[in-house]
Amino acid sequence: MKEVETIVVGAGPAGTSCAWRLKKNGRDVLILDKERFPRTKLCAGWITDGVFDNLEFTPETYPQSIMKLKFKFHYKSFPIAIYLPFAYSYSIRRFEFDHWLLERSGADFETHQVKKIEQDAGGAYVLDGEYRCTYLVGAAGTACPVRTQLFQPFQSKDDLIVTLEKEFEYPQRDDFCHIFLFKHGLRGYSWYVPKGEGYVNVGLGGKGSFFRNSGKNIHHHFKSFLRDLVKLRLLDQATTEHLQQTGHPYYFCPVERTEQVKHDRCFLIGDSAGFASRDLGEGIGQAIESGFMAADEIMGAGTYAAGQIATTSIGIRPVDNFLMNRIHT
Ligand SMILES: Cc1cc2nc3c(=O)[nH]c(=O)nc-3n(C[C@H](O)[C@H](O)[C@H](O)COP(=O)(O)OP(=O)(O)OC[C@H]3O[C@@H](n4cnc5c(N)ncnc54)[C@H](O)[C@@H]3O)c2cc1C
Repeated sequence: MKEVETIVVGAGPAGTSCAWRLKKNGRDVLILDKERFPRTKLCAGWITDGVFDNLEFTPETYPQSIMKLKFKFHYKSFPIAIYLPFAYSYSIRRFEFDHWLLERSGADFETHQVKKIEQDAGGAYVLDGEYRCTYLVGAAGTACPVRTQLFQPFQSKDDLIVTLEKEFEYPQRDDFCHIFLFKHGLRGYSWYVPKGEGYVNVGLGGKGSFFRNSGKNIHHHFKSFLRDLVKLRLLDQATTEHLQQTGHPYYFCPVERTEQVKHDRCFLIGDSAGFASRDLGEGIGQAIESGFMAADEIMGAGTYAAGQIATTSIGIRPVDNFLMNRIHT
């Protein structure tokens, strides 16, 4: 049996941030992930300055592909796109970003799909009869085994986000990030995100309950979205005919959290805790923040409190309220 002080289940941004902080402070930590890295992660890969600050790097020092994004917003069927010259963000490829974060964490890593979690008589956590630890961190996303076996299930199915997405090489990409808000009656938005090294990411997301109740499923909305991209000459017709988009569900941060994100010496962070913002469904920033907070509590240097994690991405109250009203009511 392998003995470690802390085991982190999941090597996304939540898990690697937690491990990075523990390792930096000389603590013993092992990350387990079911995938070999680098691995594909469905995500538009749009990050803000806050992510750079928290992870202590800059766009200039990031060694993988990165692109500064300017935005064009398309609202419902309004014929003109709105360009906000002051708004910017960055796109990264999760395939590269997550691998880089894992290597940079300095933590030990093993490819292992965690299935069974037990607590022994001394309160230590035993994973699949192979690993024993004092602290256990669940960072394995929506279906995290730490969540499903040691915590309550997600309370509100109404907070489920459903997505479809594809990232692919498309060298003649546009340099603007296009965001399509509430097009074709969608309770959510779709995106065209250019990436460095000639890649493009297109996708669409909305509330699961909206797709269930509206009579038009997410694939129907995705087809309308691809037609819009062809009309705007952002993609050519032939490309849209061969796209093999895939989906991934995760959870919006609840309005009022009733579920625990920690008990004993066990923590849930990132998507396993349901931290995606209620306005845009972004979760990378929150994954990192929650990872740090759990690490601090393990080291006796702070208290992990879910209420301190941001519930919106934009942070301008009237804009947040407008988006949340359109998505959630
Ligand atoms: C289509 C889409 C677009 C998005 N776009 C954005 C965006 O532009 N910006 C943004 O901020 N957020 C975005 N998000 C949300 C963001 O991707 C997530 O919030 C973020 O990845 C959460 O990080 P995490 O570390 O909690 O989980 P993840 O990144 O999902 O990592 C979880 C890890 O756990 C591993 N794992 C799962 N089960 C097990 C197991 N049993 N044993 C071991 N390992 C396991 C997985 O292999 C995975 O590597 C998007 C999400 C989707 C689906």
